[in-house]
Amino acid sequence: MTDPDWSQYGLETQAIRAGQRRTGEQEHSDPIFPTSSYVFGSAAEAAAKFTGQIPGNIYSRFTNPTVRTFEERLAALEGGERCVAVASGMAAIATLGFGLLKAGDHVLCSRGVFGNTVLLFQNFFAKFGVATTFVDLADPAAWEAAIRPQTRLLFLETPSNPLTQVADIAQLADLAHRHGALLAVDNCFCTPALQRPLELGADFVIHSATKYLDGQGRCVGGAIVGQRELLDKEVYPFLRTGGAAMSPFNAWVFLKGLETLALRMRAHSENALGLAQWLEAQPWVQRVHYPGLPSHPQFDLVRRQQKAPGGIVSFELAGGQEQAWKLIDATRMLSITANLGDVKTTITHPATTTHGRLSLEERAAAGITDGLIRLAVGLENLKDIQDDVMRWRTA
Ligand SMILES: *Cc1c(COP(=O)(O)O)cnc(C)c1O
Repeated sequence: MTDPDWSQYGLETQAIRAGQRRTGEQEHSDPIFPTSSYVFGSAAEAAAKFTGQIPGNIYSRFTNPTVRTFEERLAALEGGERCVAVASGMAAIATLGFGLLKAGDHVLCSRGVFGNTVLLFQNFFAKFGVATTFVDLADPAAWEAAIRPQTRLLFLETPSNPLTQVADIAQLADLAHRHGALLAVDNCFCTPALQRPLELGADFVIHSATKYLDGQGRCVGGAIVGQRELLDKEVYPFLRTGGAAMSPFNAWVFLKGLETLALRMRAHSENALGLAQWLEAQPWVQRVHYPGLPSHPQFDLVRRQQKAPGGIVSFELAGGQEQAWKLIDATRMLSITANLGDVKTTITHPATTTHGRLSLEERAAAGITDGLIRLAVGLENLKDIQDDVMRWRTA
């Protein structure tokens, strides 16, 4: 039986069914294939598979059926031709970079990306002769001014962490293509349930599957989605040799996570919007950063580009670090952790954790004030989350 054309189905259906190919056992749920290698029917078959004359599994660093199901499902969800699954979100960015870039190339990267992404470009790709310029995510003129003839890759996250600034993906894709460069979008915060960068012209989507794709904080994994030819020719060969493969067990957990992705992302957005509106009405809150509030500077762009505002809310207190820590320490239910994308709400103080390695000036330039708190809003009862955030006022 041939596979259905999953692009003809709705996102909720793709998330549950795309990529599954039943074995002779007629199992209903996706199976896990915990095998490092595969056997061949004959010496000739082994030889033909090693030369690539006939397709098929050889070794799980190259391909694995459970990982393949995850890849096909995520590709369908993002509307991409091909997905390459890897061991973590950082492995996705590293694999894309090593596969695509060479000495002399230039990368243009948003300043507001995940901290380890900055370090990867700044400390490691630089050692191999790839220079990176960091620019403000939401300032298209800054991107235009910084692009060079050697620029091969533009890289961004939108919305940004923790200030939820938003980039116009279609505009930056156009800029990249006018200069012969490629655009990669880290779609970790929105997932394809809320935003599909490839449809807006991006060439690659990056995922940390660790976050919302899993959705319940269990496994570390990542993926790159994009055009088949570029991924087959430049990126997948590096994975095969570089070796940051996704484990079949993790792929299976992500498959279970994806089944509820559309439902969860809607619910995260509803809870986060409720919390952001409530925070904005509190006299002790100076400012709320949330893409779903009309006070967000790019509210119109968000409504064009995203199906819903997502689960990340940040807010600022007047009293700096002392007050921020007091609020965090007074909570009883919220998890004090920098992770996100979980059904459990997490709370963090960016200035002393995720952004603690930046200098004072760098933090100020990035807008990370000492009174800033970030919430990754989970799926608990909204009133219970509000009560916990409020506890420091009554303690
Ligand atoms: C967590 C995260 C990453 C890195 O993913 P890992 O799975 O932890 O390697 C990359 N980008 C964003 C936006 C993230 O939140």
